[in-house]
Amino acid sequence: MKLRISSVMLAELQQLVLAAAPKEICGILFGEEGQVTCYNSTRNVADDPIRHFEIDPVALIAAERHQRHGGPAILGYYHSHPGSEVRPSVTDAGSAAADGRLWLILNGRDAAAWHSREEGEIYGRFDAIRLDCWGAKGQTTAT
Ligand SMILES: [Zn+2]
Repeated sequence: MKLRISSVMLAELQQLVLAAAPKEICGILFGEEGQVTCYNSTRNVADDPIRHFEIDPVALIAAERHQRHGGPAILGYYHSHPGSEVRPSVTDAGSAAADGRLWLILNGRDAAAWHSREEGEIYGRFDAIRLDCWGAKGQTTAT
């Protein structure tokens, strides 16, 4: 299993991480079969956004509803760990459902992907998976 994302999208997300630091950012990843096609940057509604994240439940419910009505499939979630490693925290494991969704964690420089499941290797909730970044440098999407 792996998470595939374009280098352009990953660079955009890293910029968002740096712009919001020291607060954590978060959002929803859409796509299928491990391939991110787009993302929705949502509000972090955690009480202490410098230490935690919580995706705006309104945005999450809307995305779930949209998916049920033929909208883009939710592949997983992303959030940032500004100034620390891109590995799930105990809190992340505690708040993650074992729903098979993919998690992308970024810190403005590094990024790593994780698969949430029952009895994962990390805190009983996550397995490390490969993060594939594709797209040639200098190649831009025509607008
Ligand atoms: Zn985290």
